[in-house]
Amino acid sequence: MKRRNFIFDIFSVGIVSAMSTKLRAVNLNFTPMVRSISTWKTTEANQKAGQMLDKGEHALDAAVAGVAIEEENPKNTTVGYGGAPDRTGKVTLDACVMNHLGDCGSVVAVENIVNVARLAKDVMEKTPHVMLSGKGAEEFAISQGYKKTDLLTDQSKKEWEEWLKDQDYRPIINIENHDTIGMLCIDKNNNLSGACTTSGLAYKMKGRVGDSPIIGSGLFIDNKIGGAVATGLGEEVVKTVGSFLVVELMRQGLSPQEACEKAVKRIVSNNSQENKFQVAYIAMNKKGEVGSYSIEPGFTYMDYVNGKNKEVFSKSEL
Ligand code: ASP
Repeated sequence: MKRRNFIFDIFSVGIVSAMSTKLRAVNLNFTPMVRSISTWKTTEANQKAGQMLDKGEHALDAAVAGVAIEEENPKNTTVGYGGAPDRTGKVTLDACVMNHLGDCGSVVAVENIVNVARLAKDVMEKTPHVMLSGKGAEEFAISQGYKKTDLLTDQSKKEWEEWLKDQDYRPIINIENHDTIGMLCIDKNNNLSGACTTSGLAYKMKGRVGDSPIIGSGLFIDNKIGGAVATGLGEEVVKTVGSFLVVELMRQGLSPQEACEKAVKRIVSNNSQENKFQVAYIAMNKKGEVGSYSIEPGFTYMDYVNGKNKEVFSKSEL
């Protein structure tokens, strides 16, 4: 070997081993990314989840605690306490959760219970089932120590009585009348989970169930790939199994943003221009990258990352 090559070889070995020591050092100090995103301007809820993730709590616990803030907020008229009733004046709630193991729980058309996302988690963890509905879900909640609460506030009652005058049912979903909360979290163990909770469409038919408690439609998590959650006109999300579709598109290699766009375009292409309604997705992949897309403008979501919680304006089809 020529002397120059020998010196070069020794030199490169030195650099490579110094680099790998450095890389090992970097890896040892690597702080896994935590991130929380949630539909609409659900600032406090997302902050709560993000801070729990920063403290090392599990993604599902963070998501359930986060969305509970909106469930308990009487001013949010599409979630939990203070949610708009169905046309008979009854507030009925839907929720679901899914964790990094692929386990899931769901409750449908539940009355008198505020924290239905936590109830969905209890269905997942404490029953042999995935989904409980109506009275059965309520009775299970009571057996687990949940308090019975009348979910109809004076304000939502007044608005429903106003609506009764002409009973014009237009399920338009926009920033004023919808902020169903869907949340996706990634924790320090690089595990993904999500929760979704809603009172559904204001003045819906008695017994109507939307996408939000339907695993695969309102929410889907695959811990190897990512997660997605939907908001908007549930009937349209169900028709394309929307959240599952977003995750499957990410599995095919699309970014969260591209996957949300493609899933929204699928709905748009199935509908005529006259059918005006909102559907929006948010998604997060295993690397903690996020994306969102909606049909109509005006959809925003919250993004907590690196200790900062900010509102992000989603791109939209129209
Ligand atoms: N997706 C919900 C439903 O159809 C409504 C919403 O997101 O605002 O019940």
